[in-house]
Amino acid sequence: MRILVAGGAGFLGSHLSERLLGEGHEVLVVDNFYTGQRENVAHLLDNKKFELIRHDVTFPLFVEVDAICNLACPASPVHYQRNPVQTIKTSILGSINLLGLARRTNARILQASTSEIYGDPVISPQEEEYWGNVNTIGVRSCYDEGKRAAETLFSDYRRQYDVDTKIARIFNTYGPRMALDDGRVVSNFIVQALLGKPITMYGDGSQTRSFCYVDDLITGLISLLMKEKNVSGPINIGNPGEFTILELAQLVIELTNSNSSIEFRTLPSDDPKQRKPDISKAKSDLQWEPRVQLREGLIQAIPYFEARIASKT
Ligand code: NAD
Ligand code: UDP
Repeated sequence: MRILVAGGAGFLGSHLSERLLGEGHEVLVVDNFYTGQRENVAHLLDNKKFELIRHDVTFPLFVEVDAICNLACPASPVHYQRNPVQTIKTSILGSINLLGLARRTNARILQASTSEIYGDPVISPQEEEYWGNVNTIGVRSCYDEGKRAAETLFSDYRRQYDVDTKIARIFNTYGPRMALDDGRVVSNFIVQALLGKPITMYGDGSQTRSFCYVDDLITGLISLLMKEKNVSGPINIGNPGEFTILELAQLVIELTNSNSSIEFRTLPSDDPKQRKPDISKAKSDLQWEPRVQLREGLIQAIPYFEARIASKT
């Protein structure tokens, strides 16, 4: 297949592109490099089946493809809150443009949705039927509501125009190729621990997250993309192992042999208190479940951050 990966120069997009090429597909990456970097796909540039175009998905795009994966959107709270209007435009206008392209080319299209559509959930674990608890006017809303509107658009293009849409709700994912200044918790803690700097703990660290290793996540995304038309989701893709942020900090300190202290800071507003996916649907519909547990995934990711830090100093 000829597959368009929007946001393909980002953390997840670069891993997805690499895996799709490895499976014999042609990959066309479009990215405006807002948070992504050419460096993430530099090793793919010589591959004859790979193409990279600088393009902002809020503008229409005319190419011929068989499948589209929409990963274009800054994902770290620090970055998506830097230009909130652009963030919500990216999710809404980007989805409209790519869904239009899917309709015209008769391509299947996958949306990288998020656990953030559940907001600050009052049930746990979160199953796909749960509608969420989301603030419409807070600092996270540009991301959350943009992703929710994107899910609506995907569902309406399916109902109204019979487009083969697929929605993956991705839970916190980590691994190599996260930018050192990404701002999300796993990369922040590893970089701080390796540099012997204080670990920045927002709030008292009792809030929870479930962390999925990137290789597992990509396997889940591709299995959804390749499913027949009647499998459309939304489907949670994540690792149900649930940890407090304090537990994560302690594990990172242990695995990096760091002497960093933990520095408590103010909890950002609307920071969800708990997050844990119910993955029964992924197990039954995709025959997928994660294999890499947090300790093992961190052990695999830490050398990447060590190398990146060494190359910058
Ligand atoms: P990332 O920030 O590394 O990647 C996003 C990519 O999209 C970057 O390359 C960026 O330059 C590009 N982009 C942003 N706006 C664009 C625009 N208007 N036009 C074209 N390209 C644009 O983040 P990531 O972790 O790789 O996330 C990828 C996708 O997965 C995002 O849509 C995100 O919402 C979703 N997601 C990720 C996670 C996670 O834990 N990593 C969790 C839930 C959902
Ligand atoms: N967090 C933290 N220190 C950091 C970065 C994040 O304590 O340096 C916390 C953050 O407040 C949240 C959790 O870690 O409770 C996960 O944050 P992240 O930005 O990775 O993603 P989120 O799941 O909130 O979108």
